[in-house]
Amino acid sequence: MKRIAIVGGGLAGLSAAYELQRNGHSFTLFEQSNRLGGIVDTLRQDGFVIERGPDGWVTEKPWARELAIELGLEDELITSNDHERVTWVLQQGKLLPMPDNMRMMVPENVDTILHSPLFSEGARNAYIAEEQRADELKAAAPTQDESVASFIERHFGEEVLRVIGAPLLGGVFGGDVHQLSVRAVMPAFVQMEREYGSLIRGLAAKKAQRGDRPASPVFTSLKTGTGTLVERMAATLSDASIRMNAEVEQIERTRNGWSIDGEPFDHLMMALPVHHAARLLAKTDARMVELIVQPTSSAVIVGFGYLPGTAPVTPKGFGFLSPEGESCRLLAATFSDQKYTHRVPEGGKSLRAFFGGEEAEALQQESDETIIAAATCEMEKVLGPLPHSAIAFARRLPSSLPQYGVGHGERMSELQERVNMLGALHLLGNGYRGVGLPDLIRDGRAAARELLAS
Ligand SMILES: Cc1cc2nc3c(=O)[nH]c(=O)nc-3n(C[C@H](O)[C@H](O)[C@H](O)COP(=O)(O)OP(=O)(O)OC[C@H]3O[C@@H](n4cnc5c(N)ncnc54)[C@H](O)[C@@H]3O)c2cc1C
Repeated sequence: MKRIAIVGGGLAGLSAAYELQRNGHSFTLFEQSNRLGGIVDTLRQDGFVIERGPDGWVTEKPWARELAIELGLEDELITSNDHERVTWVLQQGKLLPMPDNMRMMVPENVDTILHSPLFSEGARNAYIAEEQRADELKAAAPTQDESVASFIERHFGEEVLRVIGAPLLGGVFGGDVHQLSVRAVMPAFVQMEREYGSLIRGLAAKKAQRGDRPASPVFTSLKTGTGTLVERMAATLSDASIRMNAEVEQIERTRNGWSIDGEPFDHLMMALPVHHAARLLAKTDARMVELIVQPTSSAVIVGFGYLPGTAPVTPKGFGFLSPEGESCRLLAATFSDQKYTHRVPEGGKSLRAFFGGEEAEALQQESDETIIAAATCEMEKVLGPLPHSAIAFARRLPSSLPQYGVGHGERMSELQERVNMLGALHLLGNGYRGVGLPDLIRDGRAAARELLAS
């Protein structure tokens, strides 16, 4: 039997382990910390379910849902409360609603934009013109990758980029839209441009194909939180396969496979954040390391739980975005109990605040008290005075989100060639083929199946 090592017990490594176990194959999983799940982590306390990492996944990508069903969690699946979906955008200190029926910065129907107070007349005209420019946009669709900023500006202009494009993308990727690769980050819109030229026309065509069927809710999660996916997968694994508090410090390619801290293995599945993977591979292949290394951004999540009777009132909807230049230093905030049900005891409230970019970087060294106080102060600028919360936590996630830069696809192709040349290696995790939970599950499981078939 092949001796397989998995390094990293986040969602990516666990998905690979789960698939090997399901196929009756043994492995050894090394996890440096004392818990599995990595960034995925759910706090459950006094009737609250508060996510300390991801709070759900994009419904359109089926792999997390499929896994949940396979793990017996079908009754646990919940979708975001889209009938009440409003995303607010802070503009000069005031919350203004994003128009209805938007997919990111693209409306299904331009009429919804026409009366939105969020946009100036110039931006509204840019939306109207985008549909009329369909042929021109289709003909001019670039053959090369470009930045997200350039793509959005070509379609809707600078204001739409600044007011909603950058904060929306920043909320998911925590990154600079002038650096992020549109092909890696928004492939569906790139495809739409090729087909229809106009993105508004593309979305309208999708809507027409759907007919009377309502659009699926945008996000899916689990009643007891995304952490349940991790716990259920982990429960299928044999204890002997898992080494906790086991940081891998050195790896070496040997004639027959890999030596991991001196122990021989035939195959290595490396499911680590990019800078950890690069450090371990530094002596093995310098070019591979260059291709793996990419800028990353840090995040800080602050979660609050308010008991019934003390719960503050928040505007309808899922939360707000805070574009650069606003006085609120947060990237975004979520009204968690309004986005999903099953998050609070009856009458309670749960809020999450996110710091990103330089703000998050600066807070990494601060104490929990300081971070919680900073988040409270920023939330109060927007929501008004907040009562004392029964639960408050701060979670620092340094260098947690890789920034897929322009040309990411080409870099990943070259990286894969080098991985194939070296052999007996699989690179998993959020640095390569997607950062979302469904992508990591699909990727980890596919790699395990591929390895077993080889
Ligand atoms: C703030 C934030 C919010 C997010 N929200 C969402 C969301 O709502 N929906 C969504 O789909 N995605 C979301 N994501 C993205 C998603 O959560 C991550 O991409 C994903 O969880 C990463 O999983 P991973 O297994 O690649 O890495 P990680 O979770 O980072 O796991 C890596 C593991 O490797 C271990 N490790 C590191 N070095 C070593 C070593 N030398 N030896 C052994 N073990 C080691 C670590 O301890 C860790 O457990 C979010 C990300 C962030 C940062």
